[in-house]
This record gives sequence, C-alpha cells and structure tokens, in this order.
Amino acid sequence: MSTEQSKEKVDPASAQDSETLGFQTEAKQLLQLMIHSLYSNREIFLRELISNASDAIDKLRFKAIEHPELIAEDADYAITLGFDADARTLSITDNGIGMTRQEVIDHLGTIARSGTAEFISQLTGDQKKDAALIGQFGVGFYSAFIVADEVEVFSRAAGADRGTRWCSSGEDTFTVEEAADLPRGTRVVLHLKPDASEFADGLRLRSIIRKYSDHIGVPVRLPGEAQQDADDQTDKEAGAPELEVVNSAKALWTRSRSDISDDEYRAFYKHVSHDFEDPLTWSHNRVEGKLEYTSLLFVPKRAPFDLWNREVPRGLKLYVQRVFIMDDAEQFLPLYLRFIKGVVDSSDLPLNVSREILQQDDRIVTIRNALTKRVLSMLQTMADKAPEDYQEFWDEFGEVLKEGVGEDFGNRDALLKLLRASSTRDPDVQKHVSLDAYLERMVEGQDSIYYLVADSLESAKSSPLLEVFRDRDVEVLLLFDRIDEWLMSSLSEYEGKVFVDVTRADLKLPGEEDKKAEDEDDKDPLTERIGAVLAELVEKVRRSKRLKESPACLVLGEYDLGPQMRRIMAASGQQLPDSKPQFEYNPEHPLIQRLEAEQDEDRFRDLVLLLFDQSRLASGELPEDAGAYVDRLNRLLITLLSD
Ligand code: ADP
Ligand code: MG
Repeated sequence: MSTEQSKEKVDPASAQDSETLGFQTEAKQLLQLMIHSLYSNREIFLRELISNASDAIDKLRFKAIEHPELIAEDADYAITLGFDADARTLSITDNGIGMTRQEVIDHLGTIARSGTAEFISQLTGDQKKDAALIGQFGVGFYSAFIVADEVEVFSRAAGADRGTRWCSSGEDTFTVEEAADLPRGTRVVLHLKPDASEFADGLRLRSIIRKYSDHIGVPVRLPGEAQQDADDQTDKEAGAPELEVVNSAKALWTRSRSDISDDEYRAFYKHVSHDFEDPLTWSHNRVEGKLEYTSLLFVPKRAPFDLWNREVPRGLKLYVQRVFIMDDAEQFLPLYLRFIKGVVDSSDLPLNVSREILQQDDRIVTIRNALTKRVLSMLQTMADKAPEDYQEFWDEFGEVLKEGVGEDFGNRDALLKLLRASSTRDPDVQKHVSLDAYLERMVEGQDSIYYLVADSLESAKSSPLLEVFRDRDVEVLLLFDRIDEWLMSSLSEYEGKVFVDVTRADLKLPGEEDKKAEDEDDKDPLTERIGAVLAELVEKVRRSKRLKESPACLVLGEYDLGPQMRRIMAASGQQLPDSKPQFEYNPEHPLIQRLEAEQDEDRFRDLVLLLFDQSRLASGELPEDAGAYVDRLNRLLITLLSD
C-alpha cells in the first residue's frame, strides 16, 4: 500500500550488533531549543532533509568522476519522497553517497562540529533572539525532530556492502545497527507526531517542495497520485505508484536572472548557507569570454557567531560545469569578505581540481579579483538604494570590512566609500556617517577629515579634545572599534582631504596657517612652573587652543602610538616604545587661573598632578599611581572643608 520501508525490514540476524549511544550533551539542549523556537515554521524540516539529500548526490557525482564503478548500479540521481497518511510516516530517499556506520554515528550523533558549547552559552532564553542564533548555526538534520517523535535513517555508502540503520526519538540516545539489503544512498523515515500528520499529504508536500526546494539541481519526486489522493482512493491500491517530478530540477544559477523570482533566490540562499534567515541582498552574474564562469553571491543578515575565528573554513561552493567540487573554496574571495555566501561555477577548471591547484592557478586570481569587485559594488548599490539595509549590514560586518582597507590597496577607494563612522554631528546614532557625507558638511577653509579614536563611544564623546571643534562647528569622526587605530594609521587621505587625528599635538584647525613656530609661549612663567612639576611625566607643556570647558588635556606627538595600539601591544607581550604625552592647559579656565595665583609650592604641585591624572582619566587611562591620586584629592578636599 505504501512505499515505506520501516523497522520490520531490518534483517533480524544482523541486528545483533546494535549499539545505543548517547548524544553529545549540547546536542540534546540544542535540539529541545530548536523544537521550541522553530515550531511556528516547522515545514522547513523538509527543506533541510532535501538539502542534505542533494548534497549527498553532489558528493557522489563528484567522486564518481574518478571512480565510475561507484554508480554502476544506478546513475539516475533523484530524491524521492514517500508517505503514508494512515501510518503517519514520511520518507526522503536519495541515491547519493550514503554513510558508513561510523559516518552515521559521527554525523548524526554529534550536532555539528566545533563551537557548539560556545554557541549554547550565548543563548539567552529569549525565544526570538535564540531563534535568530539558531539560524546562524544551521541545525539541518535535527530539524526532523520538530515534526517527528521518531526518526530512522537507513544508509549504505557508495561502494560499501553493508548498510546501517540509525534510530532515535531525539531524547538522550540513538541506536545504530546493521541493516541488510539497502540500496546505495540514504533514506530518512519520519514517524510524524500526531499533530504533524499534515506532512503525510501529497498536496502539502508538493507545495513545500515548490516553495523551498525548487532550485535543487536533481529531480525531487513524489508519488504521482499525490494530486488525486483524496478523490481517487482506488488508484492508491494499484501497485507501485508513478513518480512525478515536482521541482524544476535545474541548478538555480544556470537559469537566467529574469526567470528567477526573489523567493527562489532566498530559498537557494538558505540551501547554500544553512542560514534560516533571508539574505540582505545578492548578485548573480555570468561572465563570458576568455574565462567563463557564473557566480551567485549573497550577503547574509547576521554575522555567524564564529566570524572572528580565522580558522573556521569558509568560502564559496565551487562547481565545475555544474558538478559540485567542494564546499568552502576560500580562494575566490579575500579573507575580509569571508562572510559572503554563494556559489561559483567555472567552465574552465578541470573537474579534478584540488585546493592546492586552486592556490596556484592564475585563473583563480582573475576570478577572485572580479568577484571582489562584484561584492564591493553590490554593497555600494545597497548603500545607495537601501541605506537602512546597508546600515544593518555595517553594524554586523563593518569591522570585518575595515580589515580590507588595510589589506586590499587595489580596492581601497571603493572600501573607503563603504565606511561608516559615528560622529560629533549626531553622536548618539552609531556608525552612520560616510566619508562622502562628511566631506559635504566641511566648513569653509577645512581641508582635513578630523577623527578621534577611543575605547568606546562614551569616552570618545566626552573627550576634552573635541571642545574647540564643537565650538567652531567642525565635525569629528568618532572611532572606537578595536581595529580603528590600526586602520587610521594606514590611511593618509580621502578625495584629497587628509585625515587628521585630533589627539595629536600639532593640530591645525580650519582656516589656520600651518603652525609650528608657536613655541614662543613655552617661555611664559606658568608653563615653566607646570613643566617643572611634570618634567618626568610629559614630553612638553603648552598653552592650549583647543580647550574650551576643560582645564587641561593630554595630546600625543606625531609619531607616538595611541592608547589602542599600546594596549594591543601590551596584551601580546611586546615591548612598548618609551614615549610621553604632551600636557596642554587652558589659560582661560578658572582652575588654571587659581593655579597661577597659588603661592604655596606644595599645593601648586598637588594641583598640577591632579590635573595631569584627570587628563589621563579623560583620555581613557588610569592615573599613573591611583593611591597618590586619591591622597592628593583628599588633601584638597580637606582644605576645602576647613576653609
Ligand atoms: P549540514 O548539512 O549543515 O552539514 P546536517 O545536520 O544537515 O548539517 O547534516 C549533518 C551531516 O550528516 C551532513 O554534513 C552529512 O555528512 C550527513 N548527512 C545528512 N543527511 C545525509 C544524506 N542524506 N546522505 C549522506 N549524508 C548525510
Ligand atoms: Mg544540512
């Protein structure tokens, strides 16, 4: 009555070697969480299982290039669904590469690779947020348990004689045992939960396949009576059902752009990326001429949790003339574009191309350069046409893209155009100002792009170094990503305007002549008196022109390392170059005027050292000697109270 293969078919003689194993602890947790958070969208389990079946066929097709004997028994690749409404079962069968017993244990018993524990630790308990996290993680096979209370997998690896049956109810354990008489490939049988019986229905399955799996490059087949199931009971009894291909069975990227709907692109993205969310944007191109290749590149919405782990394999899926060759071909994009997902299909590379060959081949360099430009122009288009999406992109991936500014000189201008930063213009909106917008707002006589690097937006915003800029209505970019000081040190100008760090001593403000010969005021008595106190601590003391509200601040010499770089170097155990800051004071400030009038040398000294430590605090550093700072402050407070 149905084409289901179930437990009864397991050869009892070979079932002796049955073993029951425990899931990884994280697997169980993740499983429970996924069942809950994906419940409202549970039909996606089918997309995941068909996606796996299609991957398995891709892998065999590739392996059979060198080992044609593997497909001697059956070269007619297909994915076939079967269902039985009465028994509430659904099966997904492929004649792909299959799994050995050990592979079954490894791949279905361990929930995906490294980093799972880390992932679990990020879960918040908030269902919405967790669902998004699960999206990045890609739970694949396990999604079967959203609709099934028991899952069986029958698999025989191509070239192997023995098959394996895996079975689990998704709780603590799974069982594996030998299974006889299996065809090559894998059959997944779902015993549907009572409330999931809708998935043992031809019409329903057909519409899900159309929706999510139309782009799969092999035929996905359903029993042909599916359509008439309801009104034509008698046909059902009439022996083996005819199979009907439900999808278009053509690799999506080989079709022409105008024939592909946005929904199809989105569904395809989910297949290649293992992401549950829609992509932000994509770009699909065919290149003809000396080199022929097609690329389909996607920008995800969210950064994966392991974006900063440089060891994690990533890259495009590589096909050669529509034959899948490898996942994670990292040679086609630079590292700073490691978040891009998609496929590249080349007509020129040999089918037996290896990672080693990819590393040396000139054609790859050409394709890589072209794809890099393609991605940058896709991002620029998004920035122009969908600025809100672009902002979302920048918030997730901006820091990675910044690596490119330092590494990819050929594309530096394009990358600089894509840059976004916070600014004094609207300091509470984060990272929204482009360099072009900055240029447009420059004031009369301004020929520099001013910026400040700090540890956080908070400390950037409150820096005394910004006072004169605020006073003159000159915008300053506020940078606080870990990478920013390094980034800025590699940049000199944009569109003919030089970048100027406002923490440096020789600051030229808009409309001012180049200053240098300004040292005459070094000779004034107050400067000398302060200089005598701070001699060991600073390079130089001078009257400031940049302070309006604050009494004093610290600035850096032109070639000194900034605090961010010093911290990075210190953290990595490197010897720090010996450099001292410069101390600037604001002669208009009441505190400084009071200081000037101070006759008691001890009190003068305390005051100056306090101002110095406060300036350190304002630039995000601790006082040199916190105990001494507190003592001094207390001494002053006591005199204040006794006055
Ligand atoms: P992913 O597809 O992201 O690798 P899944 O959880 O979907 O993760 O699958 C885990 C692994 O199980 C796959 O990588 C593959 O090795 C194996 N697998 C799953 N389904 C099949 C199948 N139909 N044929 C062969 N191997 C499979
Ligand atoms: Mg999968």
